[in-house]
Amino acid sequence: MGHVKGLKCKECKREFPKEPMHVCEYCFGPLEVDYDYEAIQKVVSRKSIQAGPPSMWRYKEFMPLDEEPKVGLHVGYTPLVRAKNLGRVLGLKNLYIKNDSVNHPTFSFKDRVVCVAISKAIEFGFDVISCASTGNLANSVAAHSAEAGLKSYIFVPDGLEAGKILATNVYGTKLVAVHGSYDDVNRLCSEIADHHKWAFVNINIRPYYGDGSRTYGYEIAEQLGWKTPDNVVVPVAGSSLITKIYKAFHEFESLGLLEGKVQSKIFAAQATGCSPVTTAIKSGSDTIIPVKPNTIAKSIAIGNPADGYYGVQTTKVSGGWGEDVSDEEVVQSMKLLAETEGIFTETAGGVTVGVTKKLIEQGRIKPDETTVICITGNGLKTQEALAGAYPPPPVIEPKLQDFEAIYSN
Ligand SMILES: *Cc1c(COP(=O)(O)O)cnc(C)c1O
Ligand SMILES: [Zn+2]
Repeated sequence: MGHVKGLKCKECKREFPKEPMHVCEYCFGPLEVDYDYEAIQKVVSRKSIQAGPPSMWRYKEFMPLDEEPKVGLHVGYTPLVRAKNLGRVLGLKNLYIKNDSVNHPTFSFKDRVVCVAISKAIEFGFDVISCASTGNLANSVAAHSAEAGLKSYIFVPDGLEAGKILATNVYGTKLVAVHGSYDDVNRLCSEIADHHKWAFVNINIRPYYGDGSRTYGYEIAEQLGWKTPDNVVVPVAGSSLITKIYKAFHEFESLGLLEGKVQSKIFAAQATGCSPVTTAIKSGSDTIIPVKPNTIAKSIAIGNPADGYYGVQTTKVSGGWGEDVSDEEVVQSMKLLAETEGIFTETAGGVTVGVTKKLIEQGRIKPDETTVICITGNGLKTQEALAGAYPPPPVIEPKLQDFEAIYSN
């Protein structure tokens, strides 16, 4: 913490002060937080990290804050589950699930980015928090704004799952559903940002926001015993998480925190009904062609991904690939993960499990390699995906004979 030099354009490398801005005014490239790694190296070791709290704040020195975090002190450090049962079904000997479906407090990986963004927004002096969301971000922004005692305005596409809506409203936010897709919502929010001095966590605070997801990568490496896996399968929406996991591995490597070198292949996972990134990867193109989303995996349904180009580059540079699965495969994969590992993920998790299966069939992921599947959200929030999948349970009188009658048939 306190190791931020400023912002830097990812394209032209021009430097900017630490401010709530996200686009280079010269080349329109995205701005990134520029860290003083020499200073970080002086205060960080495996030991110092292990002595930290059981939360993402064990990596506090890597976070883009100048002051102590203001919200979300219990976010992160979620289980890395050794998935032997699912591995047996899929034919993988060393399979792990990084399980952010139980992330505190709103059950998705978005808590990692939001607590950094809101802490930074408070440092900047904002008193209203806002975002454009596909659902999980809405839940997390509403919860952490409540914790901070700040007002929040949250914009989502209409037609989201009931669980995502209720789990936003409950925190006492102002929620607005916009007719259209996430991309329409995002465009509207950029206009609103010009009229209201609000902290839009994934627009003007985006450089700081995105860096919270590096903790997901740090945790994978630390929990594997300071090693990085051979393969990581990542759900892709705007392409922030996928690029930050890879960045996190390389930061740990260059700071001397890892055993060996990073040789991780990064795989992008999308739903076929919204697959601009995996389509580009599969066609060998660097150009993202925007699409109109049509899938039950609503949390990752971004048709015009902000960092899509960098998502494609991450898979390419790492030697990975991209694949997508149908909505039917998403549902089958949600059930498979639940039945084998006892983990109930949302539709985005169905996407990564389904895509992993496909990548194994294609020979891109091999049986002896260490593979991590990213599970980023909780199934209780997307119950519609399983509507009608099970008959209601039998109802009986509280009598032994009634139970025996159904037990024996
Ligand atoms: C937001 C989200 C992602 C990925 O988001 P990026 O924009 O690509 O960083 C993945 N899974 C879930 C459940 C999400 O809500
Ligand atoms: Zn630039």
